Amino acid sequence: MTDKYAVIGNPIGHTKSPLIHLAFARQTGQDIDYTAIEGRIGGFRDDVDAFRQAGGRGINITAPLKLEAFKYATELSGPARLAGAVNALKFEGDRIHAQNFDGIGLVRDIVQNLGYPMAGRRVLLLGAGGAARGALLPFLEQKPARLLLVNRTVAKAQSLVGQFKPYAGGEFSCCSYPELGDIHEKFDIVVNATSASLRGELPPVHTGVFAFRCLAYELAYGKGLTPFLKLAQGVGAERLADGVGLLVEQAAEAFAWWRGVRPETAPMIKTLTVPFL
Ligand code: NDP
Repeated sequence: MTDKYAVIGNPIGHTKSPLIHLAFARQTGQDIDYTAIEGRIGGFRDDVDAFRQAGGRGINITAPLKLEAFKYATELSGPARLAGAVNALKFEGDRIHAQNFDGIGLVRDIVQNLGYPMAGRRVLLLGAGGAARGALLPFLEQKPARLLLVNRTVAKAQSLVGQFKPYAGGEFSCCSYPELGDIHEKFDIVVNATSASLRGELPPVHTGVFAFRCLAYELAYGKGLTPFLKLAQGVGAERLADGVGLLVEQAAEAFAWWRGVRPETAPMIKTLTVPFL
């Protein structure tokens, strides 16, 4: 019998998740159906209850419903609890298992696909929203020499540093954008986890943060050369990447969690990658 999965978000028209999961299913010989659900704001519980009653086995959650999914879960994984957000649910009877694979997917893309190890490196993370929160534990587990978190609303970054400090082996701190301008420090990996690019904006980061041979990673995908990537390109960053790899890697994690078999991600990353130039 065909097992049902879906992605829920609002809006959802742009989603690539059905394409990705159905390709994974073909590749691994799994019999699944995977659809997209436009979740109603304030109606998450009813929408997901209805999907479960119709036989749904698991669901991915995208913006802006990840916090709703966190509240809906009965069993939270460590990363989901720490991130305070959930991007995948698995249904087993009355039990609702919850995971957050965004951070793991991001680390896999940076370290394995792009070949930029974080261990012993200096990493700059811009933003302190849901995506950055999900990235912190997986980043710290890679043991960077230094992880600096910068956010427009600096209190949010301070609160995250307080929460995640126990997991840090190296130096882990935060500051504001103006303070970042004053510290004259360069980073091997610079990750833009702000939503500025979705509006064609640049987070107020200066060119001096990009180290020689650095990776500039933009979490947004399908936006071409965003202002952040343009800035990095202008100062000669060695590698520019957008969030396509993260999108595919987090999907692969969810697929493996649901189906017990891990798909190959490289073919799908290649399919979805839009060259910058
Ligand atoms: P949130 O809304 O939770 O957080 C937004 C963050 O961006 C906040 O830290 C906010 O700062 C900051 N920000 C917004 N505008 C600006 C600006 N002009 N200058 C500086 N900082 C700004 O968003 P998410 O964390 O969910 O998403 C962040 C990005 O990651 C988005 O581009 C999203 O598309 C992408 N993403 C990609 C995924 C993928 O699969 N590739 C998966 C998940 C996310 P403040 O706190 O001060 O408001």
